[in-house]
Amino acid sequence: MNLSHLIQGEPRALKILLDTLQNTFLVCLDAQGRLLAWNRAFAGLFPFIVDFKGRPLKDLMGVPSEEKEAVFPELQGTEPQTHVLCLKHARHHFRCVTLAVACGTLMIGERLHYSEDQVFNTLSQLTNEMASVHMKLVQKHRELQVAYGKIEHISRTDPLTDLPNRRSFMDRLEDMLLATAPGAEGFSLVLFDLDHFKQINDLFGHDAGDQVLCRFAELLKKYSRKSDLPARFGGEEFIALLPDTTIKEAWVFAERIRRELAASRLLKDKHRVTVSAGVCGYANPLSREELIKQADMALYDAKNTGRNRISIYSSRP
Ligand code: GH3
Ligand code: MG
Ligand code: MG
Repeated sequence: MNLSHLIQGEPRALKILLDTLQNTFLVCLDAQGRLLAWNRAFAGLFPFIVDFKGRPLKDLMGVPSEEKEAVFPELQGTEPQTHVLCLKHARHHFRCVTLAVACGTLMIGERLHYSEDQVFNTLSQLTNEMASVHMKLVQKHRELQVAYGKIEHISRTDPLTDLPNRRSFMDRLEDMLLATAPGAEGFSLVLFDLDHFKQINDLFGHDAGDQVLCRFAELLKKYSRKSDLPARFGGEEFIALLPDTTIKEAWVFAERIRRELAASRLLKDKHRVTVSAGVCGYANPLSREELIKQADMALYDAKNTGRNRISIYSSRP
């Protein structure tokens, strides 16, 4: 004999039991979903309602009216149906089981152990955590940008002199060519090469040679304007791109540097360090390689005619 058989013959005991339940309500609904009977726990959820008889249950549900219809067709089924219901004003959710019976539908609702407050608290906690994760992501993204910036700087800078390297210079030269209007006399180039630098290394050592390279880089920076682009082109060669500068002005710029270097005594025994340079101006249309070749030809001329001098490129042989 099971429990249902035992309590079948005890209607009074059953009533007491049903009314003793505190967190579980039981209602009986007619075919239209109106309340026929209810236990004390159900009435306790709506203390301001005096009589429930004939009230549609869906009027007491805490969901928007358009959603109510979606819940109620389940009540028509013959098999027990389980779903979660929110009752208006009750601020609690119930796990409900509905079952079709002779008079209509029986519904038993067991209170779930979380209130709306708890749901909201959990939600707001999750939202805060999401916001904090988002902030951390933004911070990491910033750090990554800074790291990328550093890598970019390293890849474009000569580590010895801190001047832009050849790659950086070639990119800027390309930009310059693209930005210069056809026919415009846009800019000049100066290609420097330290004279007899191998000898300096041989006589004074590689470190002394490095120091000379750094001092020359400083000199180049000193005479460059903000808009100019001085760079280490490789080895003991340096280059400068001078925007809005005529060949003559570029020559003056190079000559100042040549003169100051020749006058300074960077090495022991008053050994003189000198530089030669070739100057050319932009004439449309020229590729960056052709331009550099012209500056190189002028430099070759300066070397061939005695060094420690500046030559201007000439198209005449
Ligand atoms: P020229 O007047 O014809 O230009 O003669 P040069 O001796 O300057 O030219 P060469 O090309 O024969 O020698 C260049 C030397 O520059 C050889 C190389 O060891 C040296 N050099 C290149 N890069 C560096 C560097 O970073 N540091 C030092 N100390 N020397 C370097
Ligand atoms: Mg050289
Ligand atoms: Mg040299």
